[in-house]
Amino acid sequence: MINSDKILFIPSIRHGNGTGHLRRCLEWSSELKKAHYYLPSEDKESAIDLKNHPLIKKTANLVRHDSEKELKQIDWKLIVLDNRTTYDVPSVLNKIPVIAIDETGPFRQRASYVLDILPSRKRKQANNHVFSFLNFPEKIRSIRPLKKILISFGGEDPGNLSQKILDSLDKKLLENYEWSVILPHRGNTEAIPNQVQCLHYVEDLKNQLHHYDLVITSYGLTALEALASQVFVLLFNPGSYHDQLSRNFRIPYCPRGFKKNKRQLNQYLNHAIGLLNEGGESSFKSLWSKMTIKHQSLLEWLEKMTISSESCPVCGSMDRKVIGRFEFKSYFICTNCSMKYMVQFMQKSDIYSKDYFFSEYKKQYGKTYLEDFPHIQKMGEERLDRIPIKAGKILDIGCAYGPFLLKAAERGFSAWGLEISEEAVSHIQENYPQINIHQGSFENLDIHHSVFSENQFDVITMWYVIEHFDDLKSLLPKLNSLLKEGGILALSTPHASGISGQFNLQNFLKNSPEDHFTLWDRKSAVKALKLHGFRSIRFHVTGHHPERFPLILKKILTYNMRKYMSILLGWGDTFEIYAKKGK
Ligand SMILES: [Zn+2]
Repeated sequence: MINSDKILFIPSIRHGNGTGHLRRCLEWSSELKKAHYYLPSEDKESAIDLKNHPLIKKTANLVRHDSEKELKQIDWKLIVLDNRTTYDVPSVLNKIPVIAIDETGPFRQRASYVLDILPSRKRKQANNHVFSFLNFPEKIRSIRPLKKILISFGGEDPGNLSQKILDSLDKKLLENYEWSVILPHRGNTEAIPNQVQCLHYVEDLKNQLHHYDLVITSYGLTALEALASQVFVLLFNPGSYHDQLSRNFRIPYCPRGFKKNKRQLNQYLNHAIGLLNEGGESSFKSLWSKMTIKHQSLLEWLEKMTISSESCPVCGSMDRKVIGRFEFKSYFICTNCSMKYMVQFMQKSDIYSKDYFFSEYKKQYGKTYLEDFPHIQKMGEERLDRIPIKAGKILDIGCAYGPFLLKAAERGFSAWGLEISEEAVSHIQENYPQINIHQGSFENLDIHHSVFSENQFDVITMWYVIEHFDDLKSLLPKLNSLLKEGGILALSTPHASGISGQFNLQNFLKNSPEDHFTLWDRKSAVKALKLHGFRSIRFHVTGHHPERFPLILKKILTYNMRKYMSILLGWGDTFEIYAKKGK
């Protein structure tokens, strides 16, 4: 659960972006007791007079932070970035998870989570696209002939479009319709025909839109709100990007050539308004119905999130590239240590109950864990063969029902186990006195206040366990200190460079379990283990699956050829890592 007092909103107030970003953030945060905003005072590019802007003045819950120094004082849990084009967030916010909304800049790559809300050109790699987070007006225009027209290009109107349209109105247009214009903040609209009603700021504009029959604006929030009020919309966009968006959404817009001069603009307006007058209702019906969606609260959605550690679990760096985005998780590759890792956004469920070893295991492998026991024991023997140390004290972390430790004990090791599942621990206690079993998680284990101590073990093993930890920066040193000098750490884990990761990374990431935080390959394993005091790192690739080869290779190669190829190239989907403690 995210504490909403620790959410920081960063809306764009830059010249050219209008007030829409600020406006929608203010709506989202309106239910909060305190809504924290970063609105830097030295932003010279800002189009908004922050001190005097009515939106800010009337917002009682707004707590404004205007310097990086101030931002440092709160332990933020989440940033909601509604900044359109972002290159970077202030460095003091570097390790705070960021939800980037409709982001188009380079930060789209780095953001923890990308949420697209406005209907847009098909943008690549968003975690989620949720139109219903917009807060649409509830009041709807009653069906009547087109009469009242509103021109509104926001407080900023960078293209001076209000004036251009006013200039192009001829006698006929002025006489046949009732015109209103919302003046931009900079005020002086040069010459406004007498018949046009001039409005300065309109409080709660979206709930006033249903009083008009047509709104002339550019692509953005006001246009969508007008459609939601079942009002006609004509768009005059400042650039081709917004024309493209309008086209995708099928909202009529004024083509570029017509904006060149007064005469052409007048022609277009006469033509377009004429068309709306004739059969407008039927052509707008589908657009209007698109907007009748059930509103979802962004705040409630944010509060439900649980965000796993934000920086690289191995080295702590934030330098990274995104490699996959899904509704509840994002994957990055650390450009510092090469580890692929997940940042997760959903509640972690308690999955190591008895259910995990029985029904869940059966779902994955076709038999329950205990039915699979002899097979797992056989694998354990092979692993023991690969461990270069043959006697002494061995600790298996996440030992489950003890199949590996039983084999280790048979070979003369003093067998120690650590396991989180209480059922598994009592099973061992009742049946296998030769195992020295302890219940608990390795994360919470304090080696200075327990039966465990430094330099205690000759071998530590973790079979399919390491990927479950989201903080290896503290875990790997802890493993290191438990081992004797020259002791062996043996791991097995899914192989990110196996056949599945190699040929269909997106599918591999999508199917990677929600509790696997790191995805290992040889390169990242060497870096991670060397960084935390291990050397002589060896690999044994397992999990060869000739049936998972891409179709093209399946067509040319027989099953056995593919199997041979997989072994030769190390394309198995799992692998084992053996490393020695020492610099
Ligand atoms: Zn790293």
